[in-house]
Amino acid sequence: MSKQDERLKAAARCRECGAVYSAWIHPDTTIDIIGRKDGCRCGARAFQDISRATDDDVSASAEIAHDRDDGST
Ligand SMILES: [Zn+2]
Repeated sequence: MSKQDERLKAAARCRECGAVYSAWIHPDTTIDIIGRKDGCRCGARAFQDISRATDDDVSASAEIAHDRDDGST
């Protein structure tokens, strides 16, 4: 049915602030941060795929990405 198998769920780290997010790694190496279409919370959009070696870290990294602070006071 759906042909989304070509993208790979992985962990990606912001090149600016080092924050780690779960992301979709596309075959063309495009990285989409899951749940954050605007990129990192620091405003950067350059990420590094860090989960090639450690698949098990993806779930742990997802916990980090859970910090959704809207900063509204
Ligand atoms: Zn950042």
